[in-house]
Amino acid sequence: MNCIFCKIINKEIPSYTVYEDEKVLVFLDANPDSNGHLLIIPKKHILDLDSMDSETFAHIIEVAKKMKKLLEERLNIDGLTLIQNNGYVQEVKHFHLHLKPYYIKKQTKKDLDEIYKLLS
Ligand code: 5GP
Ligand code: ZN
Repeated sequence: MNCIFCKIINKEIPSYTVYEDEKVLVFLDANPDSNGHLLIIPKKHILDLDSMDSETFAHIIEVAKKMKKLLEERLNIDGLTLIQNNGYVQEVKHFHLHLKPYYIKKQTKKDLDEIYKLLS
């Protein structure tokens, strides 16, 4: 299957993976909106919200809570927005939950290497 996120799961494409278990992978968005912008994806290929099952979704939420703590502890984020795009606004056709950090104080954009070091 020609899915870029399945290729990331299969390590055919490199990623800055910050968390992994049997069901999900969490990695840095390649084009982050802010420092620490993460994507949580299921390891099985699920297209979007319509094809998402409750068990996997519940697990993704548990992992999102863990990642929120990690971002608070390591990057001192002040806020976090969760976004999951479908249809016309979904660029990558493999379900992914965006975790977008917000900072009260304006941040300079750090490179992914630097953010990865802080989160791993
Ligand atoms: P969407 O609009 O589908 O919700 O967003 C897809 C996101 O995936 C975008 O924020 C984009 O920067 C990110 N993305 C696309 N291709 C890659 C990739 O190969 N690696 C990583 N780490 N992120 C990607
Ligand atoms: Zn996929």
